[in-house]
Amino acid sequence: MVAETKLYDVLGVPPGTDDVDVLKKAYRRGALKHHPDKNAHNPEAAEKFKELTHAYEVLSNTQTRERYNQGGEAALKDDGGMGGGMAAEDLFQQFFGGGGGGGAFGNMFGGGMRETGPKKARTIAHVHKVNLEDIYKGKVSKLALQKSVICPKCSGRGGKEGAVKTCTGCDGRGMKHMMRQMGPMIQRFQTVCPDCSGEGEIIRDRDRCKQCNGKKTIVERKVLHVHVDRGVKSGHKVEFRGEGDQLPGVEPGDVVFEIEQKPHPRFQRKDDDLFYHAEIDLLTALAGGQIHIEHLDERWLTVDIVPGETISPGEVKVIRGQGMPSYRHHDFGNLYIQFDVKFPDRLPGPDDGPMAAQQIAALESVLPPRNPDAPVPPPNAMTEDFPLDDVDPQREQQRARGMAGLDDDDDDMHSGAERVQCASQ
Ligand SMILES: [Zn+2]
Ligand SMILES: [Zn+2]
Repeated sequence: MVAETKLYDVLGVPPGTDDVDVLKKAYRRGALKHHPDKNAHNPEAAEKFKELTHAYEVLSNTQTRERYNQGGEAALKDDGGMGGGMAAEDLFQQFFGGGGGGGAFGNMFGGGMRETGPKKARTIAHVHKVNLEDIYKGKVSKLALQKSVICPKCSGRGGKEGAVKTCTGCDGRGMKHMMRQMGPMIQRFQTVCPDCSGEGEIIRDRDRCKQCNGKKTIVERKVLHVHVDRGVKSGHKVEFRGEGDQLPGVEPGDVVFEIEQKPHPRFQRKDDDLFYHAEIDLLTALAGGQIHIEHLDERWLTVDIVPGETISPGEVKVIRGQGMPSYRHHDFGNLYIQFDVKFPDRLPGPDDGPMAAQQIAALESVLPPRNPDAPVPPPNAMTEDFPLDDVDPQREQQRARGMAGLDDDDDDMHSGAERVQCASQ
């Protein structure tokens, strides 16, 4: 269930869609259709295009999508800044390439975008999946990312010093007002400046920087050292301020890694506590023994089950201080062990000869007597003897299938499918 459907409607996808590929395709389709360059005669297209970009930004990010699903547009308002401000043109370029303009569409918002757009480059957000062992011990992950940096050769000018001129056609705004005669009317509309392709600047080809080809930025591989602190929890964010994309004239963006703990084959974690399932046999449960638990730091814990203290199936015991280290504290959570008691398939019975009676007598001598509080029929009751049968899963399934077609309100259901089927014919 979603609180509002507006952003889904804008993209034309069913409310609640969380498949990033579906969202991506819908955005591509809409962005190409409503691109302002293709719709110079339709001033509403630019607005529509911005809406599409906003919808895609919100829904393609798991966190903002969940917030929107729960509380609608209002829930996005108290955004702390994360993912809140990717410029429409940045996103469009991610999809269609084209770097610093001059592509099929150029810089579609031209100077207008520069005045109203964010003063900071977009945040690069990554989910960093970590296994429980690494969270227990702590580690430093070296993660590489590709980012834009100001071209070192031209210092972000795009060409030789003095070679980059403000476009006279649009006064550097990148957009231009044009007139067009439509029958008796003169229409005034805004379009991307044809002289500079929306760049707002003109660089002569021979003065263009050879390293960045006039784009002002180059792509660089950067390795960041992400500290996975002991005891850190899923959802924790490690931020690198200013380590993201660099663009001329704006503050460099941030890089944010969100820690996500991978599921562990032996332990479940809840806050600082660990949960472990131990299977023991009936003899150990009754007469004591040992179990061994491989911990997260190469240690094996040897746990004594003391003879005389019986363990019931499903019983939970605790080893204090053997859970996870608590984040930025010096204590540890607990390790909870739940015991599954494996009963023997069978013990010696009447078919196994005279020894069986002795063994049963031996059990009776050590175990508590048969429950004296169990229900017993009164002396004058009518009694009947029954043998116990094993449950055959296949037969039970057939029964379940046979019953599925019958009315649910038949009170006789439990007393046998065959009989009920006959009665309903
Ligand atoms: Zn350059
Ligand atoms: Zn221009």
